[in-house]
Amino acid sequence: MTPETFADIAVPRPLFQTFTYAVPDSMKKDLTPGSRVVVPFGRQHLVGMTVRVHQEPRPGEVKPIRQLLDREPLLSRRLLELGLWVAAYYLAPPGETLKVMLPPGLLARKVGKDHLSGKFWPEKRQLAVVGVTPREEKLTARQREVLEQLTRLPLPVVVQPFLRRMRCSQSVLKTLASKSMIEMKEVEAYRSPWTYSESSPEVRKHVLNPDQQRIFSKIQKHLASAEFRSMLIHGVTGSGKTEIYLNAIAEALARERSALVLVPEIGLTPQISRYFRAWFGEQVAILHSALSAGERFDQWQKIRRGEAQVVVGTRSAVFAPLENLGVIIVDEEHDGSYKQEDLPRYNARDVARKRGQLEGALVILGSATPQLETYYQSVQGEGLEYESLDSRILERPLPTVEVVDMREEFQKHGKAVVVSDVLARSIAQRLNDKEQVLILLNRRGYAAALLCRSCGHTESCDNCSISLTYHRHSNRLICHYCGFLRSLPKRCGVCAREYIFFLGQGTEKVQQLLGELFPGARIDRMDRDTVQKKGSFQRILGAFAAGDTDILVGTQMIAKGHDFPRVTLVGVLTAEQALKMADFRAAERTFQLLTQVAGRAGRGEQPGEVVIQTYYPNHYSLKHARSQDYRLFFEEEIRFRRNFQYPPFTVLANCVLQGEQPRQIRDQAEQLADLLLHYRTRLSSGQRMRVLGPAQAPLEKLKGQYRFQILVKATSRKELHDVLASAMDDLRRKKSSLKKSSIDVDPLNLL
Ligand code: ADP
Ligand code: ZN
Repeated sequence: MTPETFADIAVPRPLFQTFTYAVPDSMKKDLTPGSRVVVPFGRQHLVGMTVRVHQEPRPGEVKPIRQLLDREPLLSRRLLELGLWVAAYYLAPPGETLKVMLPPGLLARKVGKDHLSGKFWPEKRQLAVVGVTPREEKLTARQREVLEQLTRLPLPVVVQPFLRRMRCSQSVLKTLASKSMIEMKEVEAYRSPWTYSESSPEVRKHVLNPDQQRIFSKIQKHLASAEFRSMLIHGVTGSGKTEIYLNAIAEALARERSALVLVPEIGLTPQISRYFRAWFGEQVAILHSALSAGERFDQWQKIRRGEAQVVVGTRSAVFAPLENLGVIIVDEEHDGSYKQEDLPRYNARDVARKRGQLEGALVILGSATPQLETYYQSVQGEGLEYESLDSRILERPLPTVEVVDMREEFQKHGKAVVVSDVLARSIAQRLNDKEQVLILLNRRGYAAALLCRSCGHTESCDNCSISLTYHRHSNRLICHYCGFLRSLPKRCGVCAREYIFFLGQGTEKVQQLLGELFPGARIDRMDRDTVQKKGSFQRILGAFAAGDTDILVGTQMIAKGHDFPRVTLVGVLTAEQALKMADFRAAERTFQLLTQVAGRAGRGEQPGEVVIQTYYPNHYSLKHARSQDYRLFFEEEIRFRRNFQYPPFTVLANCVLQGEQPRQIRDQAEQLADLLLHYRTRLSSGQRMRVLGPAQAPLEKLKGQYRFQILVKATSRKELHDVLASAMDDLRRKKSSLKKSSIDVDPLNLL
């Protein structure tokens, strides 16, 4: 008798374990780790992922797997291993972790008990134009235009998106088909995320300068050795990092290996993806969350089938199913958007490094302002090679930075002003010279808060402990954390007087103000409100690149890696905003933001100028941002981290417990803290571990939930993991409801 075979299955539920099922004989041949199965789970059936197949007997009854869904595993062994590493490292449920590695829907479906023949594969057959044969015949102008477009595009052309982009109805195509000038058929076609306007980009390849060449030579050497390596390229803004990435990828492809490029946010992608398209054409797939589920699935398929060897994408693209990876590039490695603030709370930069290790690939991290931990690690020689690019391309100077003390400005004018005299003069000058201006203000909306001048009451969110922002366009108060809306009150909600006053300003107000100050200027705005609609990013950035906009006002979105050669002035309003946050990274974030946005100025022929307005001109993050000196900033910041035992000198985990009853949540938090202390005492070594809290979280109420947090600081990662895992296990065994609670390992955000 052959021994019974079992499989450990991860189900997409917030559960911290896998479940063992029996493998029926009929599946034994085909079932492998990485394949999805349907399993009975409680009263339901779920789609789960096979993690391990083995013959270790289990006590008690083991239910059989109901159905095998994939003959070919969806996740390669390496990706599966990576996923399980992520789950363990971030103390996240394995099923939920594997779920985010796949396109939406593949692991999420609940299955009805009686109909297991559900749809598990979102592949779509779609109507497409598969042939075009224009003939001399009378056509309307519209028909001719459509036909002309079709002759230009590579076939097949999927009908739906084509009609949408042409703003045209299907009847035009029907007529053309009836005249046999086009042929349409249902095909399995990729839903392409490229917009047509991007199909013929103009990008020049440059000859690398000596600095770039020096780094590229090292990259070539590493790619030849085909071993895991990692490297930090610390290059000032505009030093030509992208050009090195492109060459590195070309080198990997020449060695028949694939390449993965991570970029922070979708705002960067139109520009960056255009470069990659120009260099690598159809070999490029892009993956980001603004794609529709169908588009994402198609890109994923294309990668899995080996039809795309270069993937450019945001956070979750780190899990792209590329085979034979040669190089992984993480651009702007310091960027906060690599951290997922939801389960599993992974940081794609760190996952990329693990993936590189598993795949024997070269990992390149690039930034002008590396995260402190990254830089520290590389200067300490801890397995991260350090390379720097200290000057801009073509010896272009870094912009000059002027800091305006807004306290003096206040005294001069006898009131708070939004735009200082210095900045106003500089803007006027640029408008006169037909150059472009970026204005950064890290708050969207019109007024930061609504204050009653009679009793001091500010309007705050019902669900969160945060004040509401006034948005003029919609004439409403909005909570930026939960989306709560309230109409603009006429009277104070507490004292009922009519002394309501708008406090502080957001991008909407600044756009209006600049319009009043510079009546002839063309002013546009980029923030989360204006980029909501699909394609608006491209529209705003496109208009700016084309010179149709003189001044672009925006939030940190405008600070990201854009390359606009005609920008010669960058203005920053309220530079200290991030410093007020109760977070040990506040200074680092401020320095990064200021340096990054300054880096947008003077990238073309004309030198750039930066004007930073602040009430805290003497803070060290502002001082060093003025000279754009990362090393000086680092030296001061690292002292602070050492004194207060923050990363890189310790590793952190932030446990947040939340619920509707503050009393109950505090009790639970205390229970967890006791358990952590208990397990800590079992540590044999003299390693110190500190358990801070429980305390009210800085955002004590969020989305209707009261929040308490415990911050754990340890000098050993292994000990941190052991203690947290044991304590959580204990709590779970006691059946404490921990549904809305979370542990954030290596947190970026402590609010
Ligand atoms: P970074 O990513 O470091 O901010 P980029 O790679 O965007 O810098 O380069 C800045 C500008 O310089 C871009 O317009 C790019 O096309 C150009 N560039 C890069 N390398 C070279 C080179 N070797 N010679 C001339 N121009 C270059
Ligand atoms: Zn809210």
